[in-house]
Amino acid sequence: MADDYAFFRAVQSYLERAARVIDLSPDLSAILAEPNTELVVHFPVRMDSGELRVFTGYRIQHNNILGPYKGGIRYHPQIHLDEVKALASVMTWKTALLDVPFGGAKGAVQVDPRLLSEGERMRLTRRFTHALGNSIGPDYDIPAPDVGTGPQEMAWLMDTYMNGTGAQQKNAQRAVVTGKPIACGGSYGRVKATGQGVVHCLVEWAREHKLPLEHSRAIVQGFGNVGAHAALLLDAMGVDVVAVSDHSGSLRNDQGINVQALNDHVKRTGAVRGFERADAITRDEFFATPADYFVPAALENQVGPHEANLLQVRLVAEGANGPVNPEGEQVLESRGIDIIPDVLANAGGVTVSYFEWLQNKRMERWTLEEVDSKLETMMMRAYRKVSDFSRDYRVPARVAAYAVALKSLSDCYAARGIFP
Ligand code: NAD
Repeated sequence: MADDYAFFRAVQSYLERAARVIDLSPDLSAILAEPNTELVVHFPVRMDSGELRVFTGYRIQHNNILGPYKGGIRYHPQIHLDEVKALASVMTWKTALLDVPFGGAKGAVQVDPRLLSEGERMRLTRRFTHALGNSIGPDYDIPAPDVGTGPQEMAWLMDTYMNGTGAQQKNAQRAVVTGKPIACGGSYGRVKATGQGVVHCLVEWAREHKLPLEHSRAIVQGFGNVGAHAALLLDAMGVDVVAVSDHSGSLRNDQGINVQALNDHVKRTGAVRGFERADAITRDEFFATPADYFVPAALENQVGPHEANLLQVRLVAEGANGPVNPEGEQVLESRGIDIIPDVLANAGGVTVSYFEWLQNKRMERWTLEEVDSKLETMMMRAYRKVSDFSRDYRVPARVAAYAVALKSLSDCYAARGIFP
């Protein structure tokens, strides 16, 4: 892993490579190389101790040519502007690739949410929402959960935003955020959607390579929203999840970890460490565990050349955004290890977020079966586009995914022209 990793620069390099493949106009490359808007806010929060702390938050709106800005909100102590810019631009490619009528954005607050009480998290979320003000809105910019946030934060965000509008408009504002609890306008299937999308891609890749899933082996890094759901779904399909890691440590059990029991343990204790039905291993041992599939579902820049050389898998399905850095990717390519890139593999979340937004706008409630089946259709359509492009142009899947997305954006710009 590179200590001074420039995530935004890495995303730019993928963009440049894909732009060359589709012969993108230099004007469009220049537009897409920078976000439309970079918002930095500093806002005060009263802590339980009575002390007042000022936090820094970001909202980066990368592009909205295809629809309202869309992207998660991350709470993390080491977040910085470059990373939020990279994550926002990744959302632009992801929505364009999935043909979801949204643009790309991302938000973040520099904070370790594990060190806050529930009351402090609520006050922080409400003040951050207040600081963003009219920079977000159901037809303009729609946040969602990301690392360190979940349905509860989205409910507070929605409530704060709604209460800042007139009584007549209140209920029309529900779609200001997705990933809400079911009780206040969330969608069935949203919580597991990102993990579900990763699994759809992995299953399709296995089918293409004629590999049986039953008793194949997977290792999963990160056991939060994405990692835990991916692991639970893989386990339910008969895949043995043999190693798992999170911020607290790594575990291995060659017979297959009891994922449901591990999930209960993590819900109870907040981390995988201390789970008794698997052996504690080092980070390097985790990466070197022989398996068929690796699902990175923690943070960016986790797989550099060192980790890429340790991995003993056939496929990396990127649940996280940017988990493999460009040097790591080169090693994986040279070792013949396939990658299903983040913009495709983890797009299930934004797809079901779009379904949630539609349900809110139409005052509807879809069943889990409806959501699941629409998600599968959209994931498979995007998978096919990437797989076909990759084969036809002989480029890696990441370049293919970016190229398909860029083509959609470029067609839209070509039809509309640049104002004025
Ligand atoms: P989360 O906060 O629910 O979980 C993050 C997990 O990563 C935790 O298990 C944490 O312990 C682990 N982790 C943190 N630092 C680590 C480290 N150094 N080594 C190993 N593990 C570490 O977050 P999430 O929502 O599951 O998001 C995970 C990734 O998926 C992020 O890259 C996020 O941008 C991406 N993603 C999330 C969604 C979504 O719907 N939540 C959608 C698309 C992409």
